[in-house]
Amino acid sequence: MAMKRGWVEVVCGPMYSGKSEELLRRIRRALIARQKVQVFKHGIDDRYSIDSLVSHDGRKVETIPVKNSKEIFDHLDNPAVLVIDEVQFFDDGIIEVTEELINRGIRVIAAGLDRDFKADPFGPMSGLLALAEKVDKITAICVKCGKAAAYTQRIVDGVPAKKDDPIVMVGAKNSYEARCRDCYQLA
Ligand code: ADP
Ligand code: ZN
Repeated sequence: MAMKRGWVEVVCGPMYSGKSEELLRRIRRALIARQKVQVFKHGIDDRYSIDSLVSHDGRKVETIPVKNSKEIFDHLDNPAVLVIDEVQFFDDGIIEVTEELINRGIRVIAAGLDRDFKADPFGPMSGLLALAEKVDKITAICVKCGKAAAYTQRIVDGVPAKKDDPIVMVGAKNSYEARCRDCYQLA
């Protein structure tokens, strides 16, 4: 018996580029086609709660938080489409997990930040991008100049983050902005 394999699509870009909106658009269309959709995201503490994917325009879809890539298998309920949001936070095992899901015939849609605030490849994203059949790299609007923004600027206590800042800064007030290449700063 010939078994049809699935494939993986990656949606990436900086914060505010509309990755969640694009996921919701693809999810809606899959539901219109009466396909079973399961949505996962990385969630460390709340592994038993059902969360929802909220786009900045307020639309929601139920999401299952998992603490590592393998845990996706514990929740599998025969989906035609499996969505992974914030995929940059997963361990490198997510690449093998994705391949296994594809081999089971599932269409995987993974969305995440392609780069961290230092503009380096974010976690497993470079491997996932290499695996993908289809990649959409989308841009936000630079908050400084209005051009297309492909960078996520981290602001710590009101000033651009420094190269040697730790990923988690205890006690500091962090925020993030979308910026273009010219306006992005790593002090
Ligand atoms: P992502 O998942 O990539 O962080 P969302 O889909 O959650 O993005 O949000 C995208 C929405 O955010 C846009 O449609 C817009 O309404 C809003 N937004 C706020 N700031 C910006 C910005 N600097 N550039 C583009 N969109 C922005
Ligand atoms: Zn700019």
